[in-house]
Amino acid sequence: MHIVVTNDDGVFAPGLLALAAALKRLGKVSVVAPDHNWSASGHVKTLHRPLRVKEVELEDGTPALACDGAPSDCIALAALGLLPEPIDFVVSGINPNANLGHDLTYSGTVTAAMEGAIWGIPSVAVSVDAPEYHRGPLDYTVSAEMGCRVVEKLMHNPISPDVLLNVNVPYLPADQLKGFAITRQGLRIYRDELVKREDPRGRAYYWIGGEPPTGVKEDGTDIGEVSNGYVSVTPIQLDLTAHKMISDLKKWDLQLQ
Ligand code: MN
Repeated sequence: MHIVVTNDDGVFAPGLLALAAALKRLGKVSVVAPDHNWSASGHVKTLHRPLRVKEVELEDGTPALACDGAPSDCIALAALGLLPEPIDFVVSGINPNANLGHDLTYSGTVTAAMEGAIWGIPSVAVSVDAPEYHRGPLDYTVSAEMGCRVVEKLMHNPISPDVLLNVNVPYLPADQLKGFAITRQGLRIYRDELVKREDPRGRAYYWIGGEPPTGVKEDGTDIGEVSNGYVSVTPIQLDLTAHKMISDLKKWDLQLQ
């Protein structure tokens, strides 16, 4: 079993270290990850510049490949032959913040797993819902174990190759977790604000600022069940078609002239 691990916080992120170490019990782990933080970079395919790859070593001695592309580039390179062995699974994470609802379209963690799905490789994204204002190192022990449990189930229960699993783990001790919940995407509420400042030469510049997002805590959704204390597992498909709308739009009877 050959598992490729990536992460959007960079190859030396503690969440990647914990995930790679935990997954070693399930098979051979190869690490291909960005050389710097790509959080909220979305789904990227770098086509207009070369990609460089460097051999590095993680804190525990695990060899890894650091790439100057996005997390999704790392998976594409791995699938295209950067790694000589065929890839059985892609696991992306562990992101230190949850990836829920609309976050998926921004998330480097989830879009790396989407890239795996595009290549027909069973893929899992793992995030932990650490408190927004947490300071100091996070404990990834529980989230790494929960991610492993999902990957292990996926090994024994193959699913459609164009579906990836998005796993979000509450930041709780193992004995306070309520269990696993299979969920759908919920509704994020973003509280972004435009912050306008002036540079030393008097020109305006902008930040996307504001408070961290909240969400509608509806039961059955990723947002609702993580806040209820469950490990949320959401099956995500790449078919973004609004199937319900097809018959309505056909009634528009669009004409060329
Ligand atoms: Mn991140």
